[in-house]
Amino acid sequence: MEKLDMLFVHPPANINGSSHTLDADTNFTEQYVSIPAGVFSMADNLDKAGYSVRILNLGERVYLSNNSLENEVCKMMTEFKPTAVGIDCHWMIHSAGAIETARLIRKYAPDVYIILGGITASYFADEIIRRYGSPYELSRHSSVNFVLRGECDESIVQLLDAIIKKSHDIEGVAGLTMRISRDSGFIENPVSVPDVSAKLEITRYDLLVEQPTINPARAIITMFRGCKGGCCYCAGAKESFADAMQRDNPCIIDHDRVVNLIKKNLAQGRNKIYLYGDIRHGGEYYVKRFFQELMFSGIANAHIVFEFFSPATEEYLKKWRGWADKNSCTLEATYSPESGNRRIRSQFAKGYSNKTILDHCILVASFRIPQSTYFMFGLPNQDLAEVKETLKLAEEIIRIHASAGFNRKSIGHDVVAYTFMQIPDAGSNLFKYPEKYGFQLNFDGFRGLVKMLSSARNWTEAIGYHTDNFTTEQLGETYKMIKSRMSALYEKYGL
Ligand code: SF4
Repeated sequence: MEKLDMLFVHPPANINGSSHTLDADTNFTEQYVSIPAGVFSMADNLDKAGYSVRILNLGERVYLSNNSLENEVCKMMTEFKPTAVGIDCHWMIHSAGAIETARLIRKYAPDVYIILGGITASYFADEIIRRYGSPYELSRHSSVNFVLRGECDESIVQLLDAIIKKSHDIEGVAGLTMRISRDSGFIENPVSVPDVSAKLEITRYDLLVEQPTINPARAIITMFRGCKGGCCYCAGAKESFADAMQRDNPCIIDHDRVVNLIKKNLAQGRNKIYLYGDIRHGGEYYVKRFFQELMFSGIANAHIVFEFFSPATEEYLKKWRGWADKNSCTLEATYSPESGNRRIRSQFAKGYSNKTILDHCILVASFRIPQSTYFMFGLPNQDLAEVKETLKLAEEIIRIHASAGFNRKSIGHDVVAYTFMQIPDAGSNLFKYPEKYGFQLNFDGFRGLVKMLSSARNWTEAIGYHTDNFTTEQLGETYKMIKSRMSALYEKYGL
């Protein structure tokens, strides 16, 4: 294998025997092996700029091989000998995996440049460089050389131009956090927000070192960068994303680009297409143009999973059903009302009634669209009475699905996925201002998070908070009860 300029590495979530992740990659593996879409975009831009670049799913390698992370890192560095390694630290659950991967890379390749990026890395950039960072000129002395903050589609090229071609000033790389020398202060360059709406390229699977073994037909198409929504636990929410990633308003990928990305995925055998984001957030005109484009695209034999951020209308469902039937495509949907209690739901701009939720579920089922409905435990102001209400609503939704003939198998996910927020997203309002929501975090900063995740032997030891209504232990016990009630419901309705 020729020496690479850049190797992107998706780290494992669980490391060194820790086991903290709660079914994160639903029904597949707790290693959360899904690679953030932005990695493909960065790799594409580097490839087009003439750099040799590959993407390695280290989390999946570790999971499948049963080897230690250290063995796999050693093998990887011997095989690819990259000049630079980019590790995604996007979702919080990969924080410990990202740092441990960086440490091991440094052990086996003292001179490699190590770059961290993603939402979590962006939010904690200062602390990462302070605690794990090495000065630029002394790259061999500790783990992380650079954090690239914000969306790095273009800045990654600037960074490689600076460190490999020496054609760009390192101090001018957008979004870069680093120290020049041991005695110098931080460099914290302003983020530049890329315009990806017309040209986002996230289907460069040819740059993967190996094609996925786990869920190989899955394709994720992120239709938005940022979100119009304001859910307090989500780092993608408008205000939080503006803070951590410096994008003030969500970017909507052009309707024709989204359709083109679906086509490109199908051409590469990825026919299980997840459209992340509710296209209705793009507005009526966007929805109209999207379906026009889809109708004339020639796309066939795809399985499309799309999201509802709010209840559907008959008119909207007719568009999906009409297109799918004409083109031998199958459909699946996800919907997240979060809670069976209207007051709790209204904290997330979902203050409609339970009847509205049930009517929505009946309507979606009448269009023969299997749906996963998501509730979440661990939200602000929840108590046991709310859990009871949510379980009651969950049962009614399960009953609707059972009588429509849907089951876990036909959806591939749970009919009702009652999830648990182990840690609020870094950068979310809930993370930044926990007291405002009746929360207290159980760890301090990025290092505290890494410590908690590296030592957690099971998911209950990685619960990162307690609330005014639940101690950490009670959160764990209550969620165990929820899981067991949900299993009983599935059994009762034969799902
Ligand atoms: S949880 Fe979903 S709807 Fe809410 S802010 Fe995040 S992406 Fe938007």
